[in-house]
Amino acid sequence: MDLGLKGKVALVTAASKGLGFATAEQLLAEGASVMICGRDSASLDSAVAKLKTSYGADAPVAALSADVTADAAAQTLVDGTVAAFGGLDILVTNAGGPPAGTFDSTDISLWQKSFDLTVMSAVRLVKAAEPHLKASGSGAILTITSMSVKFPVANLMLSNVIRPAVIGLTKALAQEYGAHGIRANSILPGYTRTDRIEYLLNQWADERGTTPDEEAAKLGANLPLKRIGAPEEFGKVACFLCSSAASYMTGEMVLVDGGAYPGLM
Ligand code: NAP
Repeated sequence: MDLGLKGKVALVTAASKGLGFATAEQLLAEGASVMICGRDSASLDSAVAKLKTSYGADAPVAALSADVTADAAAQTLVDGTVAAFGGLDILVTNAGGPPAGTFDSTDISLWQKSFDLTVMSAVRLVKAAEPHLKASGSGAILTITSMSVKFPVANLMLSNVIRPAVIGLTKALAQEYGAHGIRANSILPGYTRTDRIEYLLNQWADERGTTPDEEAAKLGANLPLKRIGAPEEFGKVACFLCSSAASYMTGEMVLVDGGAYPGLM
């Protein structure tokens, strides 16, 4: 199947590692030009080097260092993408997750900070990208959220409460921008073995005298597919949703969770 991504330009934020990186890699593999961002320049350099090793020294990938919570970051990233690749067709919004914790353990000051990180970063990016996505004629917005928008995940109070606002944003954008040929969807990861999860697996292994692989197996044992996901499995679905192969999908929430969510809707 031709995904129709050759010649398209994508901006994927928070993409030096993990789910963002896996998404950027698949878009690049399918022929898109890709701008990635993250805060740490060394991680970005190594991400770009990894992609160029896999897809060639001339592969159209570049990086800009930016913290998506900073006011000016969105405009800088969009302008930088357009300057590097001549336009913007695909916007993938991603950011680090809000801190873990229960309602009682979460300090009141973290609520506003987490809203800025999770919701306002996406709002600013869409605002900055909007003229270019409209000019594209086949623009695509993909917000990376979490399975926590379908059911509250234990000890993730901030994520459980704040991420659903990104779904509201995505579905409303799908309504408002459909006439401009812009689709807006959200992808909802379940447990996926990125650095973020690797850190937790190592912590649990140290505490329990086990290995990270044993902890990963325990985490996966309760899922229908009996394992946690690999970032590439997420990246492929994300890439499909950004592509013209998904041209009649908009306003959708797509779970990539190994079947973790048991509900009908
Ligand atoms: P990860 O492996 O830790 O990667 C996070 C990436 O985001 C890194 O490239 C990091 O680079 C960048 N980043 C973090 N904060 C940033 C900021 N303020 N501005 C710009 N870049 C930033 O994490 P991940 O597992 O891919 O998770 C990505 C998102 O999906 C998170 O919101 C996470 O909560 C959510 N999620 C993950 C899972 C999972 O199982 N992995 C499940 C559900 C939801 P720098 O640190 O250099 O900035």
